Amino acid sequence: MSDESIPLLDLSDETDALWEELNEAVQRVIRSGQFILGPEVEEFETEAERYLGVEHAVGVNSGTDALVIGLRALGIEQGDEVITTPFTFFATAEAISNVGAEPVFVDIDPVTFNLDPVEVEKAVTPRTAAILPVHLFGAPAAMAQIMAIADAHDLVVLEDCAQSFGARYQGDCPGCQGEHCKQERRSSLSGRVTGSIGHAGAFSFFPTKNLGAYGDGGMIATDDADVAEKARMLRKHGGKDKYHNEVLGYNSRLDAIQAAILNVKLPYVDTYNQKRRKNAQRYNELLDGADGIVTPERTDGHVFHQYTVRVEGGRRDQLKAMLSEQEIGNKVYYPVPCHQLPVYENHDVSAPEAEQAAKEVLSLPMWPHMEEAIQSQVADIIRKNMNK
Ligand SMILES: *Cc1c(COP(=O)(O)O)cnc(C)c1O
Repeated sequence: MSDESIPLLDLSDETDALWEELNEAVQRVIRSGQFILGPEVEEFETEAERYLGVEHAVGVNSGTDALVIGLRALGIEQGDEVITTPFTFFATAEAISNVGAEPVFVDIDPVTFNLDPVEVEKAVTPRTAAILPVHLFGAPAAMAQIMAIADAHDLVVLEDCAQSFGARYQGDCPGCQGEHCKQERRSSLSGRVTGSIGHAGAFSFFPTKNLGAYGDGGMIATDDADVAEKARMLRKHGGKDKYHNEVLGYNSRLDAIQAAILNVKLPYVDTYNQKRRKNAQRYNELLDGADGIVTPERTDGHVFHQYTVRVEGGRRDQLKAMLSEQEIGNKVYYPVPCHQLPVYENHDVSAPEAEQAAKEVLSLPMWPHMEEAIQSQVADIIRKNMNK
C-alpha cells in the first residue's frame, strides 16, 4: 500500500484514544483469573440492558450464535418458516437453517435495502413462526409495519442488530439512554433503539462492527424473562446448573477480556455513531451531482456501519475497479443475495430488488474519526470518474 492509500475502515485513532483504558481493563481481567463469564460479563450485560432499555441482555460468543440461540430461545424449531431478507450477510440465513427452520426470502425496499413489509405480509403461511429483519448497514428496518404483521399473525420477531448497535427507529431520542424508551415500551416505537423493539435482538461485537471487541462476541437482548433464561441455558450446554443439562445447547459464552473491552467502549458508542452520521451527511453533500450515484436518503437514527451508495447504469464494477486501482478502500456488501448462493439453490425466490441491489451497491471508506480531507478526496475521484 502506498502512503496515499485509504482503507475502508481505520480504527487506529479510536484505539489511540482509548489505549490506557483498554490496557487497564485487559490487565484487570488477567489478574482476576476470571476468564469465562464472571463479573466483567455481568457488568457489560447490565450496562447493555440500561443502554438498550431492555430487561435482559445475555452475552454469547458471536453474532451468529446470538441469532442461533435467539431463534431457539424464542421457540423456533424444525419445520418452522422464518421470513427474512436475502440481502444480508449469510449468517442471518445460516442461523435459521441451522436451527432446522426454513428461511423464506422476501424482497427488499430499494431505498433502504431492508425488508419490504408488503412482501413480508404476502409471504406469511400457516407454517410461519417468525420474522427476522436485518438493520442493514445500520439503518433501522420498517419495524412498525413488521411488528404489526407479527401481532396480526402471532409471530415472533428477532432483530439482526449486528450492524446497528445504537441505531434508533425513526431518529434519535435525545438524552434517553434507555430510560425514556423503557417507560414508553410498545406505546411508541419512535426513538427506540434497535434490538429493543422485537421480541429479541441479536448483536455482534465482531471487531469491525460499530461496537467492536478485539475478537468474537455477541449478545441477545430481550424483555422476556423466559427467553432470557433459555438463552442463558443454551449458551452453557443447555443447563441452568453445571452437570444438570436439560436440553442440547452450545459452548457459547462471551469471554471476560472481550467484555472488559466492551465495557470501555460502550460509553463512547453514541459519540462515535454521531461522528459516522456526520461523515455520511458530508459524503451526501460531496457526492451531490455525481452522475449515476444514489446516496442514502435518510440519515436520522442511522448509524452507518457502512456508507453504501448505489451506482446506476451498469457502472458499479468499473467504478469499483478504478477506486481499487487508486488504493481507495471499497467493498460490495453483498455481491450475491442469499437465495442465489449455492447452498440455497433449490429455493424458489423472486427478489428482483435484492438482485438489482447486489449489482449496484458499493460501500465507501467510513469510520468515526475519518478526516474531511479524506472524504473530499474519495468524493472528488468518484465525481471525476462518473461525470465524464
Ligand atoms: C456480522 C454479522 C453477523 C454475524 O456476526 P458474527 O459476530 O460475525 O458471528 C450476522 N448478521 C449480520 C447482518 C452481520 O453483519
